[in-house]
Amino acid sequence: MLNIKIGKIYGIEIKLRISTLLIIGLVGFYAANFYAILVPTVSLIDLLLVGIINGLIILASILVHELAHSIVAQRYGLKVKEIELYLFGGASKIEEEPRTPKSEIIISAVGPLSSLIIGGLLLIFLFTLPLSLPLGVVITLFYSGISNIGLGFFNLFPAFPVDGGRILRAILWAKRKNLVAATKTASRVGTFFAYGLIVYGFIQFLLFGLNGIWLILIGTFLNNQTKQSYLQVLNEETLSHLNAKDMISVPRLEIPFNLTLLEAISQFFMLYKKEYFPVIKNGLIIGIIHIDDIKKVPVEQRSEFIVGYAMRKLNDFPSIYDDDSGKQVMKKFVQMESKPQLLIVKEHRDDFILGLIGKDDLVSSLRFCQLNPEKCQ
Ligand SMILES: [Zn+2]
Repeated sequence: MLNIKIGKIYGIEIKLRISTLLIIGLVGFYAANFYAILVPTVSLIDLLLVGIINGLIILASILVHELAHSIVAQRYGLKVKEIELYLFGGASKIEEEPRTPKSEIIISAVGPLSSLIIGGLLLIFLFTLPLSLPLGVVITLFYSGISNIGLGFFNLFPAFPVDGGRILRAILWAKRKNLVAATKTASRVGTFFAYGLIVYGFIQFLLFGLNGIWLILIGTFLNNQTKQSYLQVLNEETLSHLNAKDMISVPRLEIPFNLTLLEAISQFFMLYKKEYFPVIKNGLIIGIIHIDDIKKVPVEQRSEFIVGYAMRKLNDFPSIYDDDSGKQVMKKFVQMESKPQLLIVKEHRDDFILGLIGKDDLVSSLRFCQLNPEKCQ
C-alpha cells in the first residue's frame, strides 16, 4: 500500500500509510460527534476544527508510542529502520528480535507506558485548568486523554504480537529458555483474544449497531498478525540451521546477456515456467530479467531487443553472504522492498555471485526441513 515519508527522528524513518488518513478522519469524526451530542447548537466550523485537531493528536500519540519502543530498542543496540503508521496504530520495524527476555519486556512495556502517561497528563492538565475554558478545548483534552489511555490498555492485551503479548512471551521465554515454544503459547493466547474481540464485536453489532464492526475488524487484523508473527518466528528458527548457500535455486538456469527477448521467452520463460532468471555475461551473473521487464518492451520490438538491455542490475536487489544463516535470509525477505523479492548470494571471501534466493526457494527450503528434520535441528 502507498506510503508517505514524513521525516526522520533519531535516524528512524517515519512513514505514513494512506490508510492512516482514515483513522485521523474516524477519530476526528467520533470526537466531533461527541461534541455535537454535548452541545447540539455547535457550529460546523468548530466541529471540523475539533475533529481535525483530535485526529492529528491521536496520530502524534501513536507516533510517540512507537518512538518510545524504537528509542529504547536502539539503546539495547538493536537497529530500527523505520516506524510505519497505519490504520490500526503503528509498528516499529526493529531489525532483530530482542536478545534477552529482559530487553524484550522493557522495549515492549515503554510503548503502552508512554501512552498511559500522556493520557494521564492530559486529563490532569484538564482538571487543573479553569472552568471558563472553551468547550472545544475541554473536549479535545478529555478525548485525547481517554484515547491515549485506551491505546495504552489495548496494547497491554496479552495477545502476541501486541506489546502485552510480547511481554507474556518474554516471561515464558525466560522460564522455559525456548523462544519458539514461548512464541507458540503467546500466539495461542493472542488468537484467543482476537476471536474474543470478534465475538464481542458481533454481540455489540447486534445490540448497538455499527460500532461493533470496529471490534470485529480489529480482531480480524489481530488474528492475522498473530498468525504471521508466529510463522515468522517458527520459520526463522527452522531455517537458522541452514546457510544461505543451501537455499540457492538449483539447478541454476541462466540467460545469456545477448539473447533476444523473443528467444528468452521461448527458450526459458515458456520452457521452465519461472518468473525470472539471472543474466550472465562471460560466465558472471550481471543482472536479473523478470517477466515484467519483458512486458514493458512492445511485442514488435522483442525480436531485436536483447536481454542485457531489458534486465535489472544486481544493485537493485539486496545481497547476503553464502555463510549467513537462513534466519538472516528470512529477515532480509521480511524487510525487502524490491519486486520481485530476490536475494543475491555472494561468496564471503571475494564477493563472487553464487546465485539467487527467491520466495519459492524459501518455501522449498522450509519443505526440505519438514522432510529432513534432523538436518534442520
Ligand atoms: Zn506498542
